[in-house]
Order: sequence, then C-alpha cells, then structure tokens
Amino acid sequence: MTPESRAFINGKLTNAKSDKMFDNISPVSEDVIGQTTDCSTEDMDMAITAARQAFDKTDWAVNHAFRLHCLTQLRDVLVNDIENIRSQVQAETGSPAGICGQQGPQCDVPIGFIDTSLALIKNYKWSINQGLARFGEVESERLIEKEAIGVVGCITPWNVPLQINLAKIIPALSAGCSVVLKPAPDTPWAATLIGNAAHHTDIPAGIINIVPSSDPQTIGVQLVNDPRVDMISFTGSTSTGRAIMSDAAATVKKVFLELGGKSANIILDDADFSQALLSALAVCFHAGQGCAIQTRLLIPRNRQNEVEEILMNYFNMIDYGGDNTDTHIMGPLISSAQRKKVLDYIEKGKAEGARLLLGGGTPSHLDKGFYVEPTVFVDVTNDMTIAQEEIFGPVLCVIAYDTESDAIQIANESIFGLSGGVWSGDEERAIKVARQIRAGTVNVNGGNFYAADAPFGGYKQSGIGREMGLEGFEEYLETKTIAIGR
Ligand code: NAD
Repeated sequence: MTPESRAFINGKLTNAKSDKMFDNISPVSEDVIGQTTDCSTEDMDMAITAARQAFDKTDWAVNHAFRLHCLTQLRDVLVNDIENIRSQVQAETGSPAGICGQQGPQCDVPIGFIDTSLALIKNYKWSINQGLARFGEVESERLIEKEAIGVVGCITPWNVPLQINLAKIIPALSAGCSVVLKPAPDTPWAATLIGNAAHHTDIPAGIINIVPSSDPQTIGVQLVNDPRVDMISFTGSTSTGRAIMSDAAATVKKVFLELGGKSANIILDDADFSQALLSALAVCFHAGQGCAIQTRLLIPRNRQNEVEEILMNYFNMIDYGGDNTDTHIMGPLISSAQRKKVLDYIEKGKAEGARLLLGGGTPSHLDKGFYVEPTVFVDVTNDMTIAQEEIFGPVLCVIAYDTESDAIQIANESIFGLSGGVWSGDEERAIKVARQIRAGTVNVNGGNFYAADAPFGGYKQSGIGREMGLEGFEEYLETKTIAIGR
C-alpha cells in the first residue's frame, strides 16, 4: 500500500504551501497509518484559479472525443491499480474486506460505474433541433443545446468515500466541467489516489483538482463562497447541506445536495417474515454508516413477539472485528467522535422509553477499534429522537403499526425522504405501498436500487437533485436555447 499524500492542483501532485501534514487514523487499530498534506485557503485558491482557467481557456468542455480519451485513461489507471486502491480505502474507512472487495460499494463497483458516464459522452444528444416556431411576425428555428455548467466544487463525506468522489467527479468531467474536490478529513486517500491517477493521463492541468485538509470547514466554506465556482455538488449531513445552501445563495450558485436519511422498511402482514427480517441486518452494514440504510423497521403490532425472536437470532449471528474479515459486513465507526455520537443516541433512546432488545454498548471481545455492538431497540414510537434523527451507527429502531395506511404514514412522518423498503407476499400490493413512500429510492421484496444507471437521491430534507444515471449526468449541464431567425 503506497497512499498518495499529496494534493493535485493545476496538474501537479503537490504539498500544501504550509508544508503541514495531518494524520490518517485506522478505525480498526486506532493507530496512525499515514499522513496527508494539509491544505489551507491559499492552496484552495490556487485550485479554484486552475479549475476556472482550465474551463475557460481549454476546449475540454466541447471536445467530447478528447474527454472520452482522457477519462478512459483515468478509468484504466484506476482499474490497473485496484489492489492498491482496495487496501488504502479499507485502511482508512475501516470497512471489512467483505465491503471493500469486488462485490462491495467501496472500490470495484464504483470504478466499474465509470463506463456508464463514458458511454454518455459518446451517446448523449448535446444538441436537439426543436424545429420552427412563430412569435408574432418572427419565425425561428430553435436549437436546444446542453453545455457543461462550468467549475464544480465537490465536497464529500467519509463513509463510502471513493464511491461518492467518483459519483460526482466522473459525471461532472464527462459533462465537460472542471472540478475541485474537497474530501472529508477522515478519508483523504480515497481522493488523493484520484489525483495520482489523473497525473498519469492526458487530462489538461486544472481540470481535476484534489484539495485535502484536516479542517472540515474552512476550505469547504471557501469553495462554496467563491464566485468563480459555478456549482457545488455536496454529499454529507443535512445540517451541513443547509449551511452550504445558505452560503451558496450569495452567488446564486447551483447546489446539488445528497443528505441524510432515516429510511423505513415496512414489513406487511403477508410477508415471509424469516426472509424479510434478514433485511434488518443492513443496519450493521459498514456499522450503519450508510445514508440510505433502512434504520426504522415497521412491523405489524400483533406480530411483535415473533419479530423479536427472529431479530434476536439474526443479530446474534453478526460476526465482526478480528483479522479474518472477508465475510464480514460490519466494521467499526469511522472515529471515536462518531462512536460517542452513536452511544449518546443509544442513551437517549433508553431515556425516552425505548426497550433495548440487544446490544447498546461497546463490544467486550475487542480491545481496540471504534466499534459499537449491533443494537436493536423495540417499542420505539416515531416521535422519539432515535426514530427522527440520523444516528449513522448500527442501531435499528423497531416501530409497531396497526394498519397498512398507518405504516405508510409513519414512514412518511420524517424530515427525510432518502430511501425505503417494502415486503409483501403480494408484489402488486408492495409496489402500491412503495409508490406512497415519499423517498427517492424504494426497494421492494429485497430489490436493490444501487446501480450506475439508476438515479439516487432524496425527497424533502434528504437532498436536491440526483446522483448516477442520466439524471446524475444532467445535473452538471446547463441548457441553452438558440433561436435562428428564418
Ligand atoms: P458532514 O456534513 O459533516 O461533512 C461532509 C463534508 O462537508 C466533509 O468533507 C466536511 O469536511 C465538509 N464540510 C463540513 N462543514 C462544511 C461547511 N460548512 N461548508 C462546506 N463543507 C463543509 O458529513 P459527514 O459526517 O462527513 O458524513 C456523514 C453524513 O453524510 C451523514 O449525514 C450521511 O447521511 C450523509 N451522507 C449522505 C449520502 C447521500 O447520498 N445522501 C451519502 C453518504 C453520506
């Protein structure tokens, strides 16, 4: 493993002007596993200047064939370095091998998704002739054209960092934009490795800039406020999303926000409970550090005893920690601060009257790592803090409902609307319920929305806009109507 410690600014791998470095800490061992250059406002200013000039002064935005050539090179460098990438992302996220491996969302799968954007460069209809229209005495032939929006500032979190970094910069670059990426301080290497890869391609200087920093806010705020930046593409918490939206208002900048969630998984009374309740284990996936994880389990009230028994069996099977993590889905939380936040929520759940079915503390079998036990609360009501706020840890809230419409109402009584699930023996019934959930993605009977060609994003305070799919590409485009007098 040879992590890239340098930023990538104006086509050069470079240390911060201050020469300061910051530590990267393993969530598994709690040891310092390496360092990264610590950029400040001076470095960010250079990156924004470079991105602006590259967008304005090169033909990157309009030379589709050249972009395809360069981004194919970038894809190839990443694919050829996959073993190294896996080990770096695994080391800094603490994700077990089961999640960082070939089938998981941390490395191979999102790198595989690049091809979908490359195909769009080739096949997208950049100009459509809308035909003639008359306005008064004037007849015009109209061309509806799509153009890159300009300089895009990308700000990303630490949970699935390479997936999110690529889901932003690849469509943005494919659309013809230049980018400045500011990664989360906890996972800088999932960004700096992209700078290293870009260095081995023909991508013009300034088109991609990677600016890591130990300070979570300062250079992010700078990026959002800079008038030379045309758009902010952000993934992170809803509270930061609100701050970004407010800051971006000063320059009337487009904001694309992928924010938090508190998604509901509705088990209808005719579902196969032994199969459906396996999906509840998703709260342990990457220790619950996934925005779309269904953290509220909605069950028929008269089946509660049966549900509790099945959940006890399933959750007791979750294996985590130790060295052999190939089959694990659960690892530690990203940091001790995140672990404290999760443990505080657990205390709040107990104080507000939820009943702890299992877990609730730190594991006794592990003496290091930021782990929290798989935790299940029952007798949760939807007005409790643990049912309304995003915990981002391995904590399931089981909420009983009386009727189907009651279940839909509970699912929708949330400021969030990111994802959801429905289980039923009757597929049509399940789809009907899915259509009534106010969320951007809904899985029915164990389906999974996660794919390069399917848009992902939130309703309500879970965000604005869509990532991935055609929609995720078009986020980075402006629309121009050219009217030619005839
Ligand atoms: P966060 O909001 O604290 O930070 C996200 C990024 O924003 C980081 O790079 C951080 O340094 C930066 N940042 C913080 N304050 C800023 C400011 N005022 N201006 C500009 N940038 C700022 O989120 P996090 O703790 O890193 O990640 C966890 C959150 O991300 C959870 O809420 C989770 O739901 C959300 N998330 C959402 C999605 C999605 O697609 N909807 C995906 C993954 C994670």
